[in-house]
Amino acid sequence: MTDLNPYDWIDQSLATIERANWSRSTQVIDGLPGTQIAIDGRILTNFGSNDYLGLAGDDRLIQAAIQATQQFGTGATGSRLTSGHKQIHQDLELAIANLKGTEAALVFSSGYLANLGTIAALVSKRDLILSDRLNHSSLKNGAILSGATTIEYDHCDVHDLRQHLQKHRADYRRCLIMTDTVFSMDGDICPLPDILDVAITYQAMLLVDEAHATGIFGKTGAGVVEYYDCGGQPLIEMGTLSKAVGSLGGYVAGSNNLIDFLKNRCASWIYTTGLSPADTAAALKAIEIISTTPQLRQQLWENVACLKQLFAEQLPQLKLIPSTSPIICIELPDAQTAISIGRQLQQIGIFAPAIRPPTVTTSRIRLCLMATHQQLQLEQLVQTIERIFR
Ligand SMILES: *Cc1c(COP(=O)(O)O)cnc(C)c1O
Repeated sequence: MTDLNPYDWIDQSLATIERANWSRSTQVIDGLPGTQIAIDGRILTNFGSNDYLGLAGDDRLIQAAIQATQQFGTGATGSRLTSGHKQIHQDLELAIANLKGTEAALVFSSGYLANLGTIAALVSKRDLILSDRLNHSSLKNGAILSGATTIEYDHCDVHDLRQHLQKHRADYRRCLIMTDTVFSMDGDICPLPDILDVAITYQAMLLVDEAHATGIFGKTGAGVVEYYDCGGQPLIEMGTLSKAVGSLGGYVAGSNNLIDFLKNRCASWIYTTGLSPADTAAALKAIEIISTTPQLRQQLWENVACLKQLFAEQLPQLKLIPSTSPIICIELPDAQTAISIGRQLQQIGIFAPAIRPPTVTTSRIRLCLMATHQQLQLEQLVQTIERIFR
């Protein structure tokens, strides 16, 4: 053997990433989360956060986390099945089940882990998964981990989904259809009632990912399932505690039997440490606020309507990707333009990250609205974009 360095390929791979303008890096965000953030000592208006309701910096969550830390410590110290199960975990799971209107719920260390473990527990080699082409990475990787045959159907295309099932369903034991309810990069929502019909017709399980919907959609903030009035239907709901809920963690909600099964078979729940007391208590407080404060959701939706109206009036030439959520994207011709506009926005005082391949196929600036944005901030955003585009 010659003395080839076995890590050389990493340098080459990085160079390729740089050349394609796909290179990513982190930047330090200072201070409490909110509609204003500090980067390098400069204050920016924040349009890049998943903290839709402004709860991640809310003092009620902070106090709940402090109190739980003082009472129960910083770490859960073990798996939920060994030393890591606390009363507040149980309280949080009950609160999630109540919000969702399901029999039970189970809390995971993250939404990503909830998807990986749940999918791998539900299906395996003899089974079939039908997955929306634009589903989140955690659903796609869960499908790979499960070993099931996976077919990606065209984005939100129920006709395509039905055709695949017609052709292949009979060749497999179990079938799992899975979809984001809100697609995080475009901001559109799935046609849930139609997908549910198809699932029932073909005896398929249906897993819906409510990561960007929980706390935001539906009368009580339960999500897109509630928005479409599909509560009580035979489906499995999952989501995250790290977006509108303002904490960290994921959950699965469904029947008692489903949750009992996951406690016995879901590796990403069994073989990992329980959620920390601080994260658990903060999430519990947030669910309480979400359930009792519809005004927060109302403010968020008013902001969405306001921004869309400002764009229509002042920048009718702008190409917005069709959206029915607080995620609003400005479509751009290529990655370089997106990066350049993202940088210009940041220089003028607006944080709105460029999203580009490989995350999405078309480059864009992605704007995320919060309930706590003021109208003046929305007006400034539109004026700033107008200046850059002019
Ligand atoms: C963010 C997200 C997840 C992962 O949730 P985390 O709790 O951040 O791991 C899963 N699915 C979708 C659709 C998401 O947007």
